[in-house]
Amino acid sequence: MSRIAFIGLGNMGGPMAANLVKNGHTVRVFDLVPAAVQAAVDAGASAAASARDTLADAEVVISMLPASRHVEGVYLGDDGILAAIPAGALVIDCSTIAPASARKVSEAAAARGLQMLDAPVSGGTAGAQAGTLTFIVGGEEDALERARPVLQAMGKNIFHVGASGAGQVAKLCNNMALGVIMAVTGEAIALGVAHGLDPKVLSQMMAVSTGRSWATEVCNPWPGVLENAPASRGYSGGFGSDLMLKDMGLAVEAAMSVGASIPLGEVARNLYSMNHQAGRGKLDFSSVVQLITSDR
Ligand code: NAD
Repeated sequence: MSRIAFIGLGNMGGPMAANLVKNGHTVRVFDLVPAAVQAAVDAGASAAASARDTLADAEVVISMLPASRHVEGVYLGDDGILAAIPAGALVIDCSTIAPASARKVSEAAAARGLQMLDAPVSGGTAGAQAGTLTFIVGGEEDALERARPVLQAMGKNIFHVGASGAGQVAKLCNNMALGVIMAVTGEAIALGVAHGLDPKVLSQMMAVSTGRSWATEVCNPWPGVLENAPASRGYSGGFGSDLMLKDMGLAVEAAMSVGASIPLGEVARNLYSMNHQAGRGKLDFSSVVQLITSDR
């Protein structure tokens, strides 16, 4: 069992830290939001007064923060923690950030003799709670072997996809596909409904046909089709539309950096940008369907 410093206790980080506790690890946590820290303490973690204060005798440092600027700020900023991480500790950033940012922080860690992995996740808040996340890992093989028992306490599948930054590239590929698929699934159901079809029957048919996807089966964008999907509770919870917008923007940047063409990804990035402008940035990303249905 390890002594773990955990920074960033939001929708994902909170339940991930709780699962580490459940699996017998000693977890010291920090978040800017006191209520998030309190929830982790209620789950059995101990509270730190700052990000640096989590580090004392940590063997593993995990961060789960919103975006590149938060990760660079926490590790490399004025009061950045990198300088204070105990020698020999393993650093794992699970946030979804730009591959270039991940490489920058991991190079700074290496300059201090610390091993660092980028290990963004897939599986959403339900996966974080159930401890069934997929970890998409970039970094050295031996660092991943050190991380494995800790990652297994929070997830089910672990993929080593390459060197530092590769975890972020693979995660962006997945989320770009998800963002496009969600938008087009909403569009398809709206088309059927405009022709008088029952969205539930249409979705059930698609879920066992070739239009099948996570969007038809698990997170259907149409209200009332799946009882447990965010769409059926006013698009609350789930994966924020603004986080999807961030990931689509990172995918566009990643494509431009190597001259790749992502025509559908670029259209979908604009759809999530329009969803943000329509005031739905904090709602689940499946609310993108309301771009074509909210005036009905
Ligand atoms: P969130 O906004 O709910 O949580 C982020 C937390 O980080 C917040 O509690 C915030 O207070 C904290 N934070 C920000 N700056 C901080 C700082 N300097 N020090 C300490 N704490 C700080 O976001 P989330 O949904 O938990 O997502 C976290 C990451 O995981 C994002 O990169 C997101 O893209 C990715 N992700 C999210 C989901 C999902 O379904 N929500 C799924 C896969 C991946």
